[in-house]
Amino acid sequence: MRYLLFAITVLRIFTCHAGDLHYEISPVISGTGTPYLQVRLSFEGNADGSTELALPNSFGPAKGLFACIRNLRCASRACTLLINRDKHLALLKYPANTPVEITYEVVQDEAGAEVTKETAFRPLLRPDFFHVMGCVLFVTPVLSDGSCNVTVEWRNLPSNWLVHSSFGSKERAVHFSFAKSRMIESVFWAGEFRILKTMVKSRPVYLAIRGNDWPFTDEEVLNILQKTVATQRKFWQDWDIPYYTVTLMPMANRPVMAGGQVLPTEYLGTGLRNSFAAFITPSASMDMNRFQHLFNHEMMHNWIGNRIRSGGGPNDMHFSWFSEGFTEYFALKNMLEGGFITLEQYIETINADYLEHLYSSPIGELPNEEIAADFFKDPEKAEIPYKRGFVFAFFLDNAIKSKSGGKQGLHDFMIDLLDYYSLRRRDLLSGFEFFEETLSEYLMQDAGTLIDTYIRDGKRIPPPTFVLPGYLHMETDLAGIPRIRLNKYSEGWNEGIRR
Ligand SMILES: [Zn+2]
Repeated sequence: MRYLLFAITVLRIFTCHAGDLHYEISPVISGTGTPYLQVRLSFEGNADGSTELALPNSFGPAKGLFACIRNLRCASRACTLLINRDKHLALLKYPANTPVEITYEVVQDEAGAEVTKETAFRPLLRPDFFHVMGCVLFVTPVLSDGSCNVTVEWRNLPSNWLVHSSFGSKERAVHFSFAKSRMIESVFWAGEFRILKTMVKSRPVYLAIRGNDWPFTDEEVLNILQKTVATQRKFWQDWDIPYYTVTLMPMANRPVMAGGQVLPTEYLGTGLRNSFAAFITPSASMDMNRFQHLFNHEMMHNWIGNRIRSGGGPNDMHFSWFSEGFTEYFALKNMLEGGFITLEQYIETINADYLEHLYSSPIGELPNEEIAADFFKDPEKAEIPYKRGFVFAFFLDNAIKSKSGGKQGLHDFMIDLLDYYSLRRRDLLSGFEFFEETLSEYLMQDAGTLIDTYIRDGKRIPPPTFVLPGYLHMETDLAGIPRIRLNKYSEGWNEGIRR
């Protein structure tokens, strides 16, 4: 009996056939009703006549996404569908080896004509515009090993509507592949908005933008995007990216209180497949440095997070010290390299935003486990891996530079990680040995002990432990907060700091 149960479980796992997955999506806008999306998924059924479907559930801070799915049904002959809400799965049964068709509707579950920080990853469906993220648009078969070819086709669009997504611009049908355990991390727009295009080494880069209250022109944003793409691809020595795209969505203007201050502008972004989605409150007081930082940070996720994957999915933050902290470190270095900030701003940002934050925070030494558990519940705890990972990367970069006499830096290690982990089925969770062993070689000491102490246990690196090159000095104030200072009299400082 046990054997039989095992066999059934194995068979239910879906393997893709030549036809693969076909999604048809149609906006439904009636005069009086609320707009929604009609989705039709078709694929070739399995030999055992059953398939398990993964239902939208959570994507980072966005929870309960199944509330945006309505009328999920099996539309093909002699087919039944059993929904298990607790497990976020549905079991589909149908005559063996027959075509299967599922239909459902995607609705906007939170009211509002504009998104906020809380609703940005949920659908925004208006009579003139649809914004929907892949995490809520797709009900997908649970896959075995391998991948599926996916086609997404827009139907019944008003003639003046544009379409744009992580997979293409202005194309009514897009094709891509989707692998086991990966969510379709993407964004889809349809309706009235603007699309701009530029090229980086003859590869297209797109900007889809909405809203008319920005304190900059569309071309200025495109220019920032162009420069960011060029700088980062050079950093990663990775030009083989067919296209890249960004959506920039205005968030609702509402005063937000944080630490006793009223913030007029909020910034939010998420790195997706060959793309990122940015959400910002347009205001005259927008901080262009933060804007550029958001672009640099989210694009860095194209490599740290997307190519070098942590393996736990977008809701597992155990590796956030790496996926967010190292992203912060190299985003800042690329901002310096791309000319977005001056050297003085670079040093001051390291001091004020990272060292001071981490070394003065009452929760600056929380163990990694506790941070991962509360990441999406507690914004203050969620800040720590950004700061801790940045400081750890800064520590490692300088240690490697010192050990190698300036010949190597953490950059070289990152290129090694990209080479190794970007192959399919490799990620940090299932193969952290490569990370640890390679880092140990660069450091000429056991990296595992450092990771255990400064990341897992969360201890702050004692300032005297930093090994800094001659052009950097570290001073510690009475409260124990370190600050760095650049010594321009020291030889080689200019190449060293930019390396
Ligand atoms: Zn991030």
